[in-house]
Amino acid sequence: MSTHNSIRFCAILLATENQGNVVHDQTCLRAAQALATQCAGTAEAIVVGPGAGEWIQAACDLGVDHLWVATGEATTRCASQAPQVVDLLASLMLSPQYLQTTSHATTVYLIDADATHEEIGARLAVHIDALPLGRCQQITLDESGALCVTQSVFGGRLRVTRRLSAGIHIAALRQGLSVQTTQSPEKAHAARPPHTTHHQITLTGPVRPDLPVLTLPRAEQHASLEGAKLVMSGGRGIGCEAGFTLLYQIADQLGGAVSASLPAVDAGWAPIARQVGQSGKYIRPDIYVAVGISGTPQHMAGIDPHTRIVAINKDPEAPIFNMAQLGIVGDWETILPALSEALKT
Ligand SMILES: Cc1cc2nc3c(=O)[nH]c(=O)nc-3n(C[C@H](O)[C@H](O)[C@H](O)COP(=O)(O)OP(=O)(O)OC[C@H]3O[C@@H](n4cnc5c(N)ncnc54)[C@H](O)[C@@H]3O)c2cc1C
Repeated sequence: MSTHNSIRFCAILLATENQGNVVHDQTCLRAAQALATQCAGTAEAIVVGPGAGEWIQAACDLGVDHLWVATGEATTRCASQAPQVVDLLASLMLSPQYLQTTSHATTVYLIDADATHEEIGARLAVHIDALPLGRCQQITLDESGALCVTQSVFGGRLRVTRRLSAGIHIAALRQGLSVQTTQSPEKAHAARPPHTTHHQITLTGPVRPDLPVLTLPRAEQHASLEGAKLVMSGGRGIGCEAGFTLLYQIADQLGGAVSASLPAVDAGWAPIARQVGQSGKYIRPDIYVAVGISGTPQHMAGIDPHTRIVAINKDPEAPIFNMAQLGIVGDWETILPALSEALKT
């Protein structure tokens, strides 16, 4: 079991050319800082990629202890594909400068829980002999100072909290997760006056050639699911593509976006980019209108607990009604056209 005074928490921050200099979400950075503060450990960040500027600023503003920035031609050329990013991270982590600071019994690397970062986390674990933890719902220190992770297992049917052994771990945190600590953010900040040691490591090794990427034109023009405040979501109960046409129409009328359950995606009524759930996207709209969706744990795992749910389902016993703030028992073929008409007036 890891003891609290030897833990290093390190956020891995990718600044790809696509992102430019925009810092999207500081979940991992804040989690590293909060957990290190709580256990008097070390908070660090590693930044790779050509658009690193704002990440560097964010890490310094938070006052992480060490900030590692990879520089050199390799970092500007290869920050868009997982194998190349992992080469960069592994080179940095195996550099003598970095290894000099690695006396910790336990290191936890924190990455965003999304497809890109999770692929990088899995590949990196192989390179640096780390334990990939996958998606974690919470990381905490128990009363004895031992590091614990909580995860959802068996398709969301169980939540398991377990203590971590000493070693190197890679944990994926969903965006917006707030790590629970016993200290208030103000006290924590006062306890750790910002002072960041900035390390620049120039990587000169050979660069793996880019993999060929075929970019397909986006087939649809509808509003993106990411960041939508209102989402109209269709499930197996919609039963046909025409139902989704109506969902898109209503979403447009309300300024929202459309999502779908896995069976609706499998049926071809919506693209996979709109699938919500355990094996799809995690979304945090204010309102989620679930139409013809039963409310399985695998689907609900993709919706933030703070989201208010409106359920439209013809089965009054559907489990979704146990989770909805507003429930309408009825057939969507009656309700959705009436809703669309009402919104026109
Ligand atoms: C490892 C794993 C990962 C998974 N990942 C995901 C995931 O990411 N996302 C996901 O969604 N699922 C996922 N699933 C699948 C999941 O278990 C369910 O099968 C799925 O969520 C059910 O989708 P649904 O609610 O659309 O369909 P159903 O459960 O079949 O529900 C359809 C609902 O529509 C209602 N209905 C029928 N006709 C009408 C009508 N005319 N008007 C109104 N209501 C109507 C029915 O009463 C019913 O409640 C995963 C499963 C596994 C094992």
